[in-house]
Amino acid sequence: STPGGPRAKEEKIVVTVRLRPLNKREQLAKDQVAWECLDDNTIVYKPPPQERSVQPAPFTFDKVFGPASVTEAVYEEGVKNVALSSLMGINATIFAYGQTSSGKTYTMRGITEKAVIDIYNHIINTPERDFTIKISGLEIYNENVRDLLNSESGRSLKLLDDPEKGTVVEKLVEETASNDQHLRHLISICEAQRQVGETALNDNSSRSHQIIRLTIESTLRENSDCVRSFVASLVRKEQNTFSENPCFNFTSGLTSVNANDVQNFVDLAGSERASQSLADGARLREGCHINLSLMTLTTVIRKLSSGKRSGHIPYRDSKLTRILQHSLGGNARTAIICTLSPALSHFEQSRNTLFFATRAK
Ligand code: ADP
Ligand code: MG
Repeated sequence: STPGGPRAKEEKIVVTVRLRPLNKREQLAKDQVAWECLDDNTIVYKPPPQERSVQPAPFTFDKVFGPASVTEAVYEEGVKNVALSSLMGINATIFAYGQTSSGKTYTMRGITEKAVIDIYNHIINTPERDFTIKISGLEIYNENVRDLLNSESGRSLKLLDDPEKGTVVEKLVEETASNDQHLRHLISICEAQRQVGETALNDNSSRSHQIIRLTIESTLRENSDCVRSFVASLVRKEQNTFSENPCFNFTSGLTSVNANDVQNFVDLAGSERASQSLADGARLREGCHINLSLMTLTTVIRKLSSGKRSGHIPYRDSKLTRILQHSLGGNARTAIICTLSPALSHFEQSRNTLFFATRAK
């Protein structure tokens, strides 16, 4: 079964892989394509001629998207079910994981656009509820938290423990979107603000995590036709009231009077910041530090997917995992898109990404 199929309905963590085409620079450098998608589920290393004696083992996933795939397909088949669950009372988090230049930002931007379309379609198709969509954006750079909707906020924002809401980011701006166009505008402000950081700090985007959080609040309209017919059927003491009334059907949508759920879109720091090879100090000399948030996230995801949810999960060890704690594990659903460069010169990093993807399944 594919992530878009029936199994995905219950799966907590959906892992997919996206292989991008060779880019101009790689083509000019005569880099070779080192990976091949055998089918919708399988990707394999394609060794150069001098290595052809070895038979590499293929990697298998719920879904593998090849270089010709469009972001729309990645959304429809790898993300949509997870994203839509946040419209039904479940928090959802969508990650892009992969080395720098593998296509994380490219993929996440397209995915966020598709999700916005789905949210507003859902609002139109759910006349019995009133919706409020809110957005916040933040960047974690070197364990400092920066507000992407407030360029004035210079210093790192503090994380506070709220007894009801869990970890909250102090003073983080949250804007209410008046419609879909306004929401797109606010998302573009977050993206532009991240680019400001990129020019100010060398190589910012490979080291920083960006989170765009959409909060979807809704209330059942007291005077909606649905509610009135439901109350009327209760008064008549009808059988099967719950299963027959579309507003109160547990498989078709929300049943609670008030709902407040989030969708997180997370464009992670380059996965080379989490790789084991950094731990030996070889690249520390280049001023390239292990990214604490990324290391902690990989541990958290590995523990969650190993099924031993009762064991200690080190959410509190990094800013990223603290901020996402209530949207990871528990009742929440997660989609991880692992992005790969096809270039032979990036073989090691691509293989590391596939190892991570395998452990996250
Ligand atoms: P990352 O965020 O992982 O560092 P980017 O998303 O910035 O990588 O992608 C690097 C370059 O590759 C960009 O120029 C981007 O437009 C291009 N690119 C990435 N993925 C694809 C794809 N699937 N198809 C075409 N071009 C892509
Ligand atoms: Mg990027």
